[in-house]
Amino acid sequence: MRESELLEHIYRRSEGLADASTDLVVGPGDDCAVLRQAGGGLLLLTVDQLLGGVHYKPGTPVDLIARKAVARSVSDIAAMGGTPRWALATALLPGNYPHADELFDRMAHWATRWGCPLIGGDIGSGPGELHLTVTVGGEAHPERGPVLRSGVKPGDVLCVSGPLGGALESGHHLDFEPRVELGRRLCDTLGRNLHAMIDLSDGLGRDGARIAKASGVRLVIDAEKIPRREGVDSWRNAAGDGEDYELLVAIAPGRNVPEGLIEIGRAEAGPAGCEIVDSGEKIDAGEMGWDH
Ligand SMILES: [Mg+2]
Repeated sequence: MRESELLEHIYRRSEGLADASTDLVVGPGDDCAVLRQAGGGLLLLTVDQLLGGVHYKPGTPVDLIARKAVARSVSDIAAMGGTPRWALATALLPGNYPHADELFDRMAHWATRWGCPLIGGDIGSGPGELHLTVTVGGEAHPERGPVLRSGVKPGDVLCVSGPLGGALESGHHLDFEPRVELGRRLCDTLGRNLHAMIDLSDGLGRDGARIAKASGVRLVIDAEKIPRREGVDSWRNAAGDGEDYELLVAIAPGRNVPEGLIEIGRAEAGPAGCEIVDSGEKIDAGEMGWDH
């Protein structure tokens, strides 16, 4: 089964959950779940796995494995404009794994660096590669609230926060900086004119289609405007490689593009999807990207 089909299944199972529970504001299908806390604030929750042989290659330094495991979840908090507050980690260690202490020290280091100290976890041992799971809890922006995937409106300006593609070859997938500061600043400065965000983990095409579907709009992206990482020679690679962890942002039209963002297209009314226009040719980009 493909990841997209399995996610659909999970989302369908969870329909109505937000209505049934007074605490749940946003259920499965966005970058984080959102829960209403007793004091009235909104709690963001996300969890991600880092699988040996899938998300990092054998021989990767322990520090970079630890960093990526934490950064992926922190990036989901950033995608909602939130502030990371705490983290929990589990590790499935191969038998006789010699670096367990260092691994947790480095996860704790990175978690603290991004404002979400490691407050607990669990360790198991088993066959196969090292696998890590990191949960991060955060706070939604106090005025703007959580920035969801579902807020894109026809006419919105679409932007990304940095160059795309080549994440594996360049090592960017291991040492990227989650866009927490940027996400928060966009909430501060744009408020309700910041319509939607997602972090690009699976590629601009695939994640663009996700935000389009959640919003019921069509994203129309100009191939020439997609910023490419050094060494990435085509927009197809920029849109399809994945693991960029940049933000894709939808902003109400009629204002200057904020610092730190690059305009790449517009949202239109029409069948939900993501298309990239290359010299007048429209290409459906929804299948471009990484299916786990
Ligand atoms: Mg995400």
